[in-house]
Amino acid sequence: MSELKLVFDAPKPRTKAPLHLADFSAEERKAKAKELGIPAFRVNQISTHYFTHYNDDPATWSDFPKDLREMVRKEFLPELITLVRSVSCDDGMTRKDLWRLHDGVLVESVLMKYPERTTVCISSQAGCGMNCPFCATGQAGLTRNLTAGEITAQLVAAARSAAQGDLPGGPTRLSNVVFMGMGEPLANYNAVMRSVRNLVTAQPDGLGIGARSITISTVGLVPGIEKLMEEGLQVRLAVSLHTPDDELRDSLVPINSRWKVREVLAAADKYAEKTGRRYSIEYALIRDINDQASRAELLGKLLKNRHAHVNLIPLNPTPGSKWTASKPEDERRFVKILEDYGIPVTVRDTRGREIDGACGQLAAAVKSES
Ligand code: SF4
Repeated sequence: MSELKLVFDAPKPRTKAPLHLADFSAEERKAKAKELGIPAFRVNQISTHYFTHYNDDPATWSDFPKDLREMVRKEFLPELITLVRSVSCDDGMTRKDLWRLHDGVLVESVLMKYPERTTVCISSQAGCGMNCPFCATGQAGLTRNLTAGEITAQLVAAARSAAQGDLPGGPTRLSNVVFMGMGEPLANYNAVMRSVRNLVTAQPDGLGIGARSITISTVGLVPGIEKLMEEGLQVRLAVSLHTPDDELRDSLVPINSRWKVREVLAAADKYAEKTGRRYSIEYALIRDINDQASRAELLGKLLKNRHAHVNLIPLNPTPGSKWTASKPEDERRFVKILEDYGIPVTVRDTRGREIDGACGQLAAAVKSES
């Protein structure tokens, strides 16, 4: 733990984000209410408004005493994220939202509606300190960790949008959450876990989304994976491997110089054993960099007999970047080789491509306008 903390301590925010209901456990919320002289049953009401009705404006709560509303807003529901811009594509079925935090920092979330599910991809940090050279977010560096309140606010906003039917096809329930937006979730462990608890806790104290519908993606912070497997949650683990060999991975995913491919996969194997859940290997296919047949062979050999599946991601090129997506024939060859090894492979759909869908691209675009 201390190792994780030492290596990944984020720069402190200039001013602290105000504390929010979502930063606390159910017990802590009650204790805080008691300090403020608010009866415990009112906490259930507050949580119900927030986590069940996605309503964070006490001024509109007709069942709540008028004289307590302002105090509750200030002490439990300060505004943490403000919508700056939304951009849609895929016939409106994908929407990327850009949020401004209390200190002006920008983060993104992406809501995606599919026939059978509604998924949000959220940010756990403003920027990212992992410095992957092909990634827009990585190039801008880490600004700061998000608080649990700020992460949960993205989730509640997505749940609200889904419930209101903001995306075409009518109201739905937010069913899946992926921590794959800006940031490395395991480098902001405590806030991410508080947010996961807010997700999996049944209403009214949380959003009531099953752990099996939540994916946490990591570049391979081994101590974080080991901690996560002790949480007793069946959250899906996604490991962004991007290449099977240390030589290339040292430059593609610089943290590889700390935890090598072998160690990362060993931690993921332990995770699968402990949770009974297959993990996914995320692999951004980058033209002439990591998409050769030899690397597919190596990956096949490495993953054969492991409880893993591979999710290939056609790289979404960032403006001005030399990194670009693989040729379709190279992508097909890569898939075929892995399948010949008996490894389950999917190619991620390219949702959001028209709207700067890769993490960090919308934030980067808005920053450069301002
Ligand atoms: S690819 Fe992911 S881990 Fe790497 S810099 Fe980008 S956001 Fe961070």
